[in-house]
Amino acid sequence: MSETTINLKDYLLPLPWHGEFWQSFNDRIDSQRLPHAIMLNALEGVGAESLAYSMAYRLLCTNVQSGVACGRCSGCLTLAAGTHPDFFYVAPEEKGKQILVKQIRKLCESVVKTSQQGGWKVVVINPADSMNRNAANALLKSLEEPEANTILILISNRLSVVPTTIRSRCQIESLSVPSKEIASQWLSGKAEGKQVNIDEVLEIANGLPLLALDYIQGDGLENRQQVEALLDAMRHANETPLLVAQACQKYPPDDLIDWILSYVHRLIVGELQNKPNPALFLFLDKLIQARAWLLSSANINTQLLWEELFIEWAQIFQSQR
Ligand SMILES: [Zn+2]
Repeated sequence: MSETTINLKDYLLPLPWHGEFWQSFNDRIDSQRLPHAIMLNALEGVGAESLAYSMAYRLLCTNVQSGVACGRCSGCLTLAAGTHPDFFYVAPEEKGKQILVKQIRKLCESVVKTSQQGGWKVVVINPADSMNRNAANALLKSLEEPEANTILILISNRLSVVPTTIRSRCQIESLSVPSKEIASQWLSGKAEGKQVNIDEVLEIANGLPLLALDYIQGDGLENRQQVEALLDAMRHANETPLLVAQACQKYPPDDLIDWILSYVHRLIVGELQNKPNPALFLFLDKLIQARAWLLSSANINTQLLWEELFIEWAQIFQSQR
């Protein structure tokens, strides 16, 4: 999810469906019961990253009013400019890859070194599940010996992949997908002036509001529809797996695998719900494995990967024709 889809000023207030968490977050600040580490556990597209930014604004603003950052003080402005000395953001150097141990070591050094002006230090690690084992071990030390007034906000959409040693030291906050009403109301405000069927886009985005927003604002929807048409065509033997694998080389591999996953999932709970087919569930497992593989390895022959997956995909439907 690109950070540019939301203006920085939009981070001042949490997204409408995070209201309940926000209230308890504020209560805990007021009563000085904020934990040292919070793990925001949410599907990508629910807005955990956005919430982490809202939390950072709330903690680094020097002029908070009614639990909301002001957006005008030096704390808010330097955070917006990306120059706040007490804000640390760690993400993989390349999208979809791992967070490396050298990044975590550098983070720990910087957090200790910075001159704290009596306020909070905020660290965001996004996504926490992309830390490799060494990186996670390096982070453990700082989780075991927490610095005063430092909060770690870890974001994860695959909590099971995060080492137990890390998870057990965090307060885990699971953020759920908002109701269709709340999501479409929010999207309507964002899509003003655009010819778009909000409910349709929201459905394609599996109800995930920020993913739907990405589709409305970018070319994600068109790409995704093309891929779904190709998957459909292979189901009906109108396209061959090898040619489709070639055609799919132009899409980012991790996006492609997510599109296929969500398409297969929708098929299972929708069109094919009365024709249960174990092969489809095995195929889902393969996709999830492939996704993990893409995340952890640097040099994958994606042409071969797509070929293998698509040949299997076509075979699932062969017997039914
Ligand atoms: Zn402020």
